[in-house]
Amino acid sequence: MPKSSSGSYLGPGGLDLSQAFFKSILHTAPPSPTKRHTKISVIGAGNVGMAIAQTILTQDITDELVLLDAVPDKLRGEMLDLQHAAAFLPRTKIHASTDYSITVGSDLCIVTAGARQSEGESRLNLLQRNLAMFKGIIPPLARYSPHTVLLVVSNPVDVLTYIAWKLSGFPSNRVIGSGTNLDSSRFRFLMADHLDVNAQDVQAYIVGEHGDSSVALWSSISIGGVPVLSFLEKQQIEYEKETLENIHKHVVESAYEVIRLKGYTCWAIGYSVASLARTILRDQKKIHPVSVLANGFHGVYGGQVFLSLPAQLGRGGVLGVTNVHLTEEEAQKLRDSAKTIIEVQAELGI
Ligand code: NAD
Repeated sequence: MPKSSSGSYLGPGGLDLSQAFFKSILHTAPPSPTKRHTKISVIGAGNVGMAIAQTILTQDITDELVLLDAVPDKLRGEMLDLQHAAAFLPRTKIHASTDYSITVGSDLCIVTAGARQSEGESRLNLLQRNLAMFKGIIPPLARYSPHTVLLVVSNPVDVLTYIAWKLSGFPSNRVIGSGTNLDSSRFRFLMADHLDVNAQDVQAYIVGEHGDSSVALWSSISIGGVPVLSFLEKQQIEYEKETLENIHKHVVESAYEVIRLKGYTCWAIGYSVASLARTILRDQKKIHPVSVLANGFHGVYGGQVFLSLPAQLGRGGVLGVTNVHLTEEEAQKLRDSAKTIIEVQAELGI
């Protein structure tokens, strides 16, 4: 059925159906030009992209949601499946296409497309393939939405965020990696489970590289505003540092465990990224541990590198990084991760 310029369907004889259904009241004017309309594009409609999309929809974060993938049939199927839930969801326009022009004017572009590691493939080879893929994804996104915030989720997220920054030509505050936002949420869950409290009352940050070499900031852990380590010390309650280290070890292992058990992870990353989308689009100025250009923090110098640090986020992307205290051991771990990532980036030739 043909559509009118306002997007509503035209009936027989070009009758605008929405005009026929609703009669205008007197003395109206077009909507205020200051009204904000928000648009999010999700690139890659796989397990992760669809979990992010559905969480964004249920939480009423945007007016318009675009899905883009390289596989047209699966993409259309996913779009229809979500559209069919409209009667149960807040109103969001959902579109999908393999053509980047559909992303035009996005406020936030979330990139989840990524090649999977094939058996026996080296990490560097996988990265080369992802680099080639990002060369086809980032430039058109930047062209169609020159003012967007880019949020990279594909792995290895820290290197790919750096690649997205380079390929986009954007200022560094508008390129973010989902980084250790997910690791920190896993950590908060495990701490909460350990102490039998609500995970939302646990404040704890994991920073650094997303994954194996992430750094848990023990001194940052507080429950209901009470710093855990000094509280235990003051109460002369014996605690085993090993217990806490095991919780962090469990965080690192938990992604592998989920992948071993169900083949991929999706729900936690979906909620984690939707929380970032809400903070950014609604300019909430919340602090999230995410991958940002980390040079100059905690002695990270040398080549340019993206690592997770607690960052304040809002409409402009990264508004600043908190001046969190790191012990010398924690800062050294961060610098070691930076060095490894810089070496990988040099091998990639970017
Ligand atoms: P998936 O294979 O289910 O989905 C990837 C999708 O990308 C597929 O639908 C594929 O068709 C699409 N795609 C491939 N090439 C494309 C291109 N050039 N343009 C557009 N779309 C393209 O994988 P998944 O389980 O959804 O994981 C996606 C990525 O997210 C992986 O890199 C994974 O490692 C990463 N991930 C990151 C985190 C994190 O915390 N950062 C957590 C989980 C997964």
